[in-house]
Amino acid sequence: LEEIRSVDPEIAAAIEAEATRQNSHIELIASENWVSKAVMAAMGSPLTNKYAEGYPGKRYYGGCECVDVVEELARKRACELFGCEYANVQPHSGAQANMAVEFAMLKHGDTLMGMNLAHGGHLTHGSPANFSGSYFHVVSYGVNDDGFIDYEQVRQIALENKPKLIITGASAYARTIDFKKFREIADEVGAYLMADIAHIAGLVAAGLHPSPIPYAHVTTTTTHKTLRGPRGGMILCSNEIAKKFNFNKAIFPGIQGGPLMHVIAAKAVCFQEALQPEFRTYQEQVVKNSAALCNGLMKRGVNIVSDGTDNHLMLVDLRGTGITGKEMEHLLDDANITCNKNAIPNDPESPFVTSGVRLGTAAITSRGLKENDMDQIAEAIFLMLQSPDNKEKARAIVKTLTDRYPLDV
Ligand code: PLP
Repeated sequence: LEEIRSVDPEIAAAIEAEATRQNSHIELIASENWVSKAVMAAMGSPLTNKYAEGYPGKRYYGGCECVDVVEELARKRACELFGCEYANVQPHSGAQANMAVEFAMLKHGDTLMGMNLAHGGHLTHGSPANFSGSYFHVVSYGVNDDGFIDYEQVRQIALENKPKLIITGASAYARTIDFKKFREIADEVGAYLMADIAHIAGLVAAGLHPSPIPYAHVTTTTTHKTLRGPRGGMILCSNEIAKKFNFNKAIFPGIQGGPLMHVIAAKAVCFQEALQPEFRTYQEQVVKNSAALCNGLMKRGVNIVSDGTDNHLMLVDLRGTGITGKEMEHLLDDANITCNKNAIPNDPESPFVTSGVRLGTAAITSRGLKENDMDQIAEAIFLMLQSPDNKEKARAIVKTLTDRYPLDV
């Protein structure tokens, strides 16, 4: 930080303040995590200086022999980690991985079927606010009144609309996804199946959530959520499908220019870490912590969509409490707990207000917290739900935990 401070004290101060914020808060945003020092170092390496349009061995710039090694290692490790033949590690983000796949597999106006944003899907799965919703004809599926995907409903919608591409995967779904069932539905209606495992990639890599690789024609993911790598995206599939739809071309020159080689190096480091046995232990703890937090809330009378969780996240249903998602996000912020407001299925409030908050355990597990600590966090959340006057009590719980598990950032 000294080097930044001497050049740009304002930015140095903001970075320092963010490090302090991260250290003093309980981080429950389900899509966030803490990367290792090795991943962080790769991102801040001299590879950021290099232009490398193209792919290893076929670049549009000279001097790419070292970054070729980096990208090849990243691709090889991604394939080993997820058990597939092809990996494109260049997408700058999950949204760009999805954009490339959708542009490659569909034509303007084709029918795309994805999970409704309001039921847990992602913007890129066909939201009207996103390119996917304006460029393609979209039909959506959601969850039933109990908060579970209703596969018979998915099948009926698919039969009625005959989509060319079905997208499975979500940003706010706490239950195991049956990829095999999705593939059966896709086969029945003659659709391709894309699985977006952005949220659960770490669990899939560790074998704690069934893998979509045997079932989906193509799988996309981010690398920064449960997978605990740098911010970025990735496309995974068989060589046959990659060739048929030319995903390489869809990324570059289709929608991106030069790849971020420093980020690709950090992805490679992340995959190396994820291939170690300790990564499975970490993911097991993520799931145990999620279950413990969920139980801690439910035993205090807090409603959870689908009455539980199978993965790293849960959706708190605030209906009937007199508190909106937006208010709860602020209340928890006051207690130094960070989360995000989130629509719940059939939410009566607008997306800016919502009736829920989404909580996840990937980041706090990286910090070292265990099941017993989850009950403390549930207590702090419950205190804030009861009254803003409990702020000091809730903050004291947070401080005990953040002091016990200091973060080395
Ligand atoms: N897909 C899913 C399911 C996500 O949850 C997200 C991010 O929230 C994305 C894609 C997009 O990732 P990014 O923010 O890297 O564009």
